[in-house]
Amino acid sequence: MKGLLIVVSGFSGVGKGTIVKELLRRYPDVYELSISVTTRRMRLGEEEGREYFFRSREVFEEMIRNGDLLEHAVYNGNYYGTPKPYVLEKLSEGKNVILEIEMQGGAQIKRVFPEAQLLYIVPPNAKELFERLKHRNTETPEEIHRRLKRAIEETAYMPSYDFVVVNDDLEACIQEVHALFEHEREVFDERQRLAEKLKEQLVEITEEESYVTSVL
Ligand code: 5GP
Repeated sequence: MKGLLIVVSGFSGVGKGTIVKELLRRYPDVYELSISVTTRRMRLGEEEGREYFFRSREVFEEMIRNGDLLEHAVYNGNYYGTPKPYVLEKLSEGKNVILEIEMQGGAQIKRVFPEAQLLYIVPPNAKELFERLKHRNTETPEEIHRRLKRAIEETAYMPSYDFVVVNDDLEACIQEVHALFEHEREVFDERQRLAEKLKEQLVEITEEESYVTSVL
């Protein structure tokens, strides 16, 4: 049985990274994280192959040309993309694969994988988002301003997402998201089982001798 392809997006500072990390920590047999490729510079404390695979522009563009990426987008002047082989392998192993990517990438994934489940994490309100960004103390005021401006643009993608979950209370949000995907996985598995069963029956019927003589 194939796993679910899950896209998790949200404004910068909404807490999507924490939610994804918790899902992976609590349910390691259920979820797998796709590590993206990026051309942005490695930040302090980051490691090659843990947060991202850090590559040059040339290598990234080569990957695009070779069809090695499921989707890619430009964010803040840098390329970001999802490596195809790893995701396909984990899905075929039955894992639910999480892509923590921005919205243009999410839209591309939905086009290629209509069965993908797109989740948009939102803050309870704009003021709360602003406060969270301020209290992270990792961004300069200019960066915070840029991120909020970007968030304004990103609201345009919200209606095309399958689910929107509010991250007000973190624990409640993690539980809500997991319950949501557990349910979606059950529905997906049931459909896969039904499709497989009907396929077998159809193949069987079309191979029966009486069918061959009566139809062909
Ligand atoms: P950061 O540079 O802060 O790690 O990430 C910037 C943005 O790029 C975030 O919104 C993140 O979710 C998004 N992102 C990370 N990896 C990918 C990817 O593979 N594809 C796309 N489309 N966006 C990504």
